[in-house]
Amino acid sequence: MRCVEVAVAAPVRQTYSYLLPDNLVDEKEPDRTLVGRRVFVPFGGGRASGYILTDGQRQDVSIDLKEVFDLIDAVPLFPAAMVELFRWLAAYYHYPLGQVIKTALPGGLKVSVEPVICLTENKGAGEAEDWSTGTPTEGWLARLMSGGSLSPRESKKVLADRRDRATVNRLIDAGAVRVIKRCSKDSVGKKLERCYRIDEELSREIGGAAGDPAAAASVERWVLAKIGRKPGRAEVKTLLSVAAIGTGSGAADVPRRELAAEYPYGARIIEALAAEGLVTALDRRVYRSPLGDLLPFYPRIEHHSDEQRAAIDTIVDPLERQAYRTFLLHGITGSGKTEVYLAAAERTLKKGRGVLVLVPEIALATQLEAHFVSRFGPLVALLHSGLSPGERFDEWSRILSGAAKIVVGARSAVFAPLPDLGLVVVDEEHDGGFKQQDGLRYQARDVAIVRAKMNDAVVILGSATPSVTSYQHGRSTKYELLQLTRRVGGRSLPEVSIVDMKKQQRQGAGLFHPELKAALQETFDQGKQSILLINRRGFSSSVVCLDCGTMVECRHCKVTMNLHKRPHLLLCHYCGYRLPSSTNCTICGSTRLHPVGFGTERVGEEVAALLPEARIARLDSDIAADRRTFLGLLRAAGKRELDVLVGTQILAKGLHFPDVTLVGIVLADSGLSFPDYRAAEKTYQLIAQVTGRAGRGDTPGRVIIQTLQPDHYAIGLAAEHRYTDLAEQEVRIRASAGFPPFARLVFFLVEDRQESRARARAEDIGRGARQWISGNALSSQISVLGPAPAAIERLRDQYRWQILLKSTDTANLHRLTDFLAASFQRSGGQRVLIDVDPENM
Ligand code: ADP
Ligand code: ZN
Ligand code: ZN
Repeated sequence: MRCVEVAVAAPVRQTYSYLLPDNLVDEKEPDRTLVGRRVFVPFGGGRASGYILTDGQRQDVSIDLKEVFDLIDAVPLFPAAMVELFRWLAAYYHYPLGQVIKTALPGGLKVSVEPVICLTENKGAGEAEDWSTGTPTEGWLARLMSGGSLSPRESKKVLADRRDRATVNRLIDAGAVRVIKRCSKDSVGKKLERCYRIDEELSREIGGAAGDPAAAASVERWVLAKIGRKPGRAEVKTLLSVAAIGTGSGAADVPRRELAAEYPYGARIIEALAAEGLVTALDRRVYRSPLGDLLPFYPRIEHHSDEQRAAIDTIVDPLERQAYRTFLLHGITGSGKTEVYLAAAERTLKKGRGVLVLVPEIALATQLEAHFVSRFGPLVALLHSGLSPGERFDEWSRILSGAAKIVVGARSAVFAPLPDLGLVVVDEEHDGGFKQQDGLRYQARDVAIVRAKMNDAVVILGSATPSVTSYQHGRSTKYELLQLTRRVGGRSLPEVSIVDMKKQQRQGAGLFHPELKAALQETFDQGKQSILLINRRGFSSSVVCLDCGTMVECRHCKVTMNLHKRPHLLLCHYCGYRLPSSTNCTICGSTRLHPVGFGTERVGEEVAALLPEARIARLDSDIAADRRTFLGLLRAAGKRELDVLVGTQILAKGLHFPDVTLVGIVLADSGLSFPDYRAAEKTYQLIAQVTGRAGRGDTPGRVIIQTLQPDHYAIGLAAEHRYTDLAEQEVRIRASAGFPPFARLVFFLVEDRQESRARARAEDIGRGARQWISGNALSSQISVLGPAPAAIERLRDQYRWQILLKSTDTANLHRLTDFLAASFQRSGGQRVLIDVDPENM
């Protein structure tokens, strides 16, 4: 018997071996590997689903192994090449392997179980015949005896019939038959479409002349010859319709849906014709496509710039040799990075290998998606959370089967089941959107690089503002740095001015400095577009009580409530808790509550007051949640049906609107106060990204940065487009303070409804870590920071305490993490999260 290694989809660290009964193996292909298939297995007294990782002959006969109950789907869900990646993920992120795989697979996979009637092994078919004293309705018993089992469909029918059911029960009592549970092989949500195919010879005879009387006559003759009866007029018409649709679309199979559209009666008649054998009916798999008519078409570029050419030539070399290499493509905004990606993808396809294109969020996927679809058509598949579960599964299947060779998607697309990966593009590689913030907390860019190494593939990390970590690797030999230093078409980067808002704020003089006001007015008068960036949605960031001075806080979290106007309420941005806007102060009961700070809604109101005739749209995550609305707004902006776009950082990324000539950053330093070692880097990136939206067309752009810290180096350098100086500065700071990329971090977070318990557990972990470190004499390599309350001390009624490990010794850092993880399996109401390479602490 074969023996398989299974990762059970449960929170356990190891994998298990099971025996695979021969009857589960496809008789037609007994040697085919089962890696990637889902199985039902006995587990911990019950049963669980799992994934086959290895498939081989049984080695050690001395151990008693349990048998697999069943294979769940008819096909594998991932290629064998991905098993190594899953094992790496489990080890690196300290996460159970079965749950790693579950995270990687598309959601919505179901398991349904059906009964199957079969003969028991100890009774041969000959003997069984003697018991068949009943008179089963449809000869199922004879089939059972000759075949050994009935199909799930037939079994269900038999069990539903009272007399047949009695026969089955008698046979069960006699020990000849049993009813077992089988997994339904169609459990993965395939969509099938009923199609009809007409006889080939007839189809040729009718040809394109389905409308002619002669065609009708030959159909009549043909039917008569075949079944010896003259067809009715409706039947002839139906056959002619099928023939016409089939010829017209160039495809032999005519979907029922199309026939019904052409000839409503035909859809009813055709099944009867099929039953008589005059047409072949078949269920064809259809792939639901997530691409509507929404994507614009981008024609091929005629000539690459010299810089593009040089970058492409360098990348092509390892692509041709099928050797691993990571390139950091540092290209300023508007320098034409997309063309480099497209050219590299084209070469990869020529080698017969697959391409993975990752973008930090769906909103952005849209533009890149459009470029790839324009160039490569149906070879492109999309994978992101904007798709319905059915669409996702279909795209997944197209990738796995090799029908789609290019995958464009957000974070989770890094797990796309491309059987032979040759190129990975990570666009906007510095973006925080690549880091998963719950469950398996992976960094998709890092996983992409690991996957590429395992597959001898090439990686292109593209950005105008690379992460300091990637920049440092680009300086060393780890990555190879490629640069695009000029905008396409000789365009210049915009003029940037910094305005100090301190005085304005002291005087309570509104959100816009006179300079920004004047610029907005002027841009509008010229018929050009403006973008206003503000990093918060809603109306105000908090609401303060004018009587006692308290901010209204969420009941469940230690954060202030945001005021929203549409709909009018107070909202917690962390847990979604809502209060009516007419609420009273929770401390003193006063009704005099006043909004402070601002978000997109309030900025939108102020622009509307300033430019009453302007067409203004708000773009933030509230809006982007609805992909259609979001795409509609982007489209309207592209067609110049909008004058001012007010939005969060969604607006800063990757969008290309040639008529945007003004960008205003309403408050640039709001990110600088976070306790994050990357605060300066992130502030620079945000300013540079949004700056890059201005002046992409023929008119030069300008940018106004409003700030309370006009002397901060990140803001000053951003205004002068001095990325390299910023990066060098950050490299120096991090090298001396021992932060990434010069050290690695692992973050532990304890959550508990009781503060004392969260704290006690965090102290346990801290003590355990310190003991382990001194026991292994690693005090100079690993340091323990904390325990301390987390930045948000309470979230969704859970108190949160944290510990941070920092180390230059990666191997030992992971050993320590393993040791700690083993000491605190989930217990009681407590959760301990492990975040390796944390990005939000
Ligand atoms: P980036 O991603 O680097 O900000 P894009 O790839 O969006 O820049 O390119 C900016 C614009 O320049 C796009 O409209 C693109 O079609 C155009 N473009 C890129 N390369 C060329 C080229 N070689 N010739 C003409 N136009 C180009
Ligand atoms: Zn009060
Ligand atoms: Zn809350």
